[in-house]
Amino acid sequence: MRARAAHVSRIGRNTFVVLLAGLFALAAHQGWGEDLAGLVEIQSGDLPVIISAPHGGTLEVPDVPPRKGEGMPKGARGFFAGRDTGAEELAHVVSAAIEHRFHRKPYAVVARSHRKFIDFNRPPNIAYEDPDAKPVYDAYHNALKEFCSQIHRRFGEGLLLDLHGQGSDRRKVFRGTQDGKTVSLLQQRFGDSAVTGSTSLLGLLKSQGWSVHPDPLDGKEQSGFRGGYIVSTYGKPDVGMDAIQLEFGMDYRTAAARAATADTLTEALVEYSVDYLNVLPAEAESRK
Ligand SMILES: [Zn+2]
Repeated sequence: MRARAAHVSRIGRNTFVVLLAGLFALAAHQGWGEDLAGLVEIQSGDLPVIISAPHGGTLEVPDVPPRKGEGMPKGARGFFAGRDTGAEELAHVVSAAIEHRFHRKPYAVVARSHRKFIDFNRPPNIAYEDPDAKPVYDAYHNALKEFCSQIHRRFGEGLLLDLHGQGSDRRKVFRGTQDGKTVSLLQQRFGDSAVTGSTSLLGLLKSQGWSVHPDPLDGKEQSGFRGGYIVSTYGKPDVGMDAIQLEFGMDYRTAAARAATADTLTEALVEYSVDYLNVLPAEAESRK
């Protein structure tokens, strides 16, 4: 726990609000934790958009040993402890770019703890092995749950973007929606074009030069990148959310690349918001 003060000051440099796991109270955004503070960053927002990044963290969880995964299935839906390099930083840059463009913050939930200790993108039975990790895991998911219900109340429908890094093709960004299941609300409201057309999020990103998968957009999603526990849990009509996992190749998440990645993603979100969300970017609102 020695390094806690350093963690707090690092977080203090950005706009993320850190809440204490276990004492999670959205009414008290000023709340700073004493025990588990700094392991999950939580930002309340004013847009129907949630940025999630479960695998980019680097910090140890105090008194919790690394997970072993004994007896667990391995791979895309099972045990894996490797982190998504640069994903935590990318989430910060994306959040800031959205705030700059919309003049409003997105909601955000970002892991700072290393995946060795907790995998927030798995169900609890795979996510952690030590009971001391449970409050941190719960903090992440309680925040997502609360933000989804706030968005549902305030805006009707929203979009959760779960940001990841993949190492299989550095030039590519893979979409994960369980082949459309986690964006069924979008599909119901606007039809297939909103999911697999040129005005879908991936279509907008492709038109800005990103190398995306699937391409064609209505092709099958790549095995291993089809979307995990987070998008499956929150991307549902009864939650009021669509959820898309984005698996970024390294070319999109190096320190040099992140700002451009965030700008492109934000521009796509502007188009997406006009078409599919009950919100407009700041410039459009000021013209009304
Ligand atoms: Zn990941």
